[in-house]
Amino acid sequence: MHAYAIREERFGEPMKSFEREVLPTWDPGPGEVLVQVMAAGVNFNGVWAGLGEPVSVLKGNPLGYHIAGSDASGVVWKVGEGVTRWKVGDEVVLHCNHTCGECEHCNGGEPLACRKQQIWGYETPDGSFAQYTRVQSQQLLPKPNHLTWEEAASYGLTFFTAYRMLIDRAGLRAGEDVLIWGAGGGLGVFAVQLAKLVGARAVAVVSTEEKAELAMQLGAHGVINRKEFPDLAQRENETDEQAGLRMLATKAFGKRIWQILGEKKGPEVVFEHVGRSTFASSVFLANRFGRIVICGATTGFQLNFDVRHLWMHQKSIIGSHFADAGEATKANQLIERGQIRPVLTRTFKWEEIPAAHQEMFENKLHGNVACLVGAPREGLKNLEETRAALASHA
Ligand code: NAP
Repeated sequence: MHAYAIREERFGEPMKSFEREVLPTWDPGPGEVLVQVMAAGVNFNGVWAGLGEPVSVLKGNPLGYHIAGSDASGVVWKVGEGVTRWKVGDEVVLHCNHTCGECEHCNGGEPLACRKQQIWGYETPDGSFAQYTRVQSQQLLPKPNHLTWEEAASYGLTFFTAYRMLIDRAGLRAGEDVLIWGAGGGLGVFAVQLAKLVGARAVAVVSTEEKAELAMQLGAHGVINRKEFPDLAQRENETDEQAGLRMLATKAFGKRIWQILGEKKGPEVVFEHVGRSTFASSVFLANRFGRIVICGATTGFQLNFDVRHLWMHQKSIIGSHFADAGEATKANQLIERGQIRPVLTRTFKWEEIPAAHQEMFENKLHGNVACLVGAPREGLKNLEETRAALASHA
C-alpha cells in the first residue's frame, strides 16, 4: 500500500519527516479491522511524531517506520477473527484509543487507566496516512451520513478530547464560565461549541480576527485577541523584569475577561493545552475553586507558576488525555444529531500531507483540516457516490 512514513533518520519538521513509501498492508489479527481510508484528519501529534519530540515514536518499534494519523473516515475492508459488530463495506469513523480490552479497567472501569492504553497512529505505527489502516474493532464508530469523507475524518481526536476535558473531567455545568485558549484551533472550536451546548459562557482566546469571527459564530460569549497583550506569554528563562511585565499583562487580560462577563469574577474552568506560555496565567485567572483542565503543552512542557494562586483560592489542576470508547460514542452522537458540527476549514490532497502538517507546525491553520486519501475528490459522502466518482474518472 502507499503510505506516508516517518523514519528516525528523517526526524525534523514535517516537510522532511513525512515521506511517501510503498509498505506492506496490515493483516488484521483477532478483534482487529482493516479499514480502507477515504480521508485522514491532521493533528498536532503527527507533528510531534515527525519531530521525534518529546519522545521518539520509533523507540522500541521493530518495523523501523511509523505511519502517523489518528483520525480517519473510511470503509471496512477486512475483519479479523471474532469481530461481529462490523462487516465489510460498513462506513465508519475511528477513535484513537487503543486498549487491551481484557483488564478490569477496560471492563467496567476506566479504559484510559488500562496499562496497555495507547493512542493509535501515534503510539502505534499503523495510522491513517495510508491507503489502509489497522484498528481494534472497538475503535469503530458509525460515520454520520450527512458528512463528507473529509468532514467525517476531521473531528474525532480533537472533539472527543475536548468532550472528555470539559464534560467528564472538568464537569462543566450550565451557568459556569470557561476560558478557552486557542479557541480557533483544533480543540478550541469544539470546546466553544460544547460550552454553548451545556449552557456555559465561553470566553474565547485567539490570535487573529479570522479566528475571532469563527469563535463567535460557534457560540462564544466573547473573544479576546491575545496579540493585544504582547507581554502575556511566559518566556523560557524569564528575567524578573519580564515576569513583572507578564503579571501586569495578566491582570489587564483578567480585567478584559471581567468586561466580557459583566462581572468581577474569573472563569470556573480554564481549557488548557498551550502549556508554558499560558499556564501561569491560567492558574492566576481561574475563579476561586476553579478547575484548570489540561491535555497538552504546545509551547513547552515544563510549567512554572506561582503555587500560592492555586492553594490560597483552592483551585484544581486536572490532567486529561483523549477519551474512551463510551465518550467517543456519546460525542459522535452529538455530531450525528447535528448538535455539534465539524469545523473543516481546509482539505488537502494526498500529495499535500507533509505540507498540511508543516502548516499546522507553523500555526497557519485554524479549525480542523483533513487530507483526501482514497476519496477521489471532495464532497463525497458514501461508498455509492465514491464508486460513481471513480467510475466517471476511469
Ligand atoms: P492547533 O489546531 O494547532 O491549535 C492550537 C492553538 O493554540 C492555536 O490555534 C493557537 O491559537 C494556540 N496557541 C499557539 N501558541 C500559543 C501561545 N503562545 N499562546 C496562546 N495560544 C497559543 O492544535 P490542537 O489540535 O488544538 O492541539 C493543541 C495541543 O493539544 C497540541 O499540543 C496537541 O498535541 C494537544 N492535544 C492533546 C490531546 C490529548 O489527548 N492529550 C488531544 C488533542 C490535542 P491562537 O494563535 O489563535 O491563540
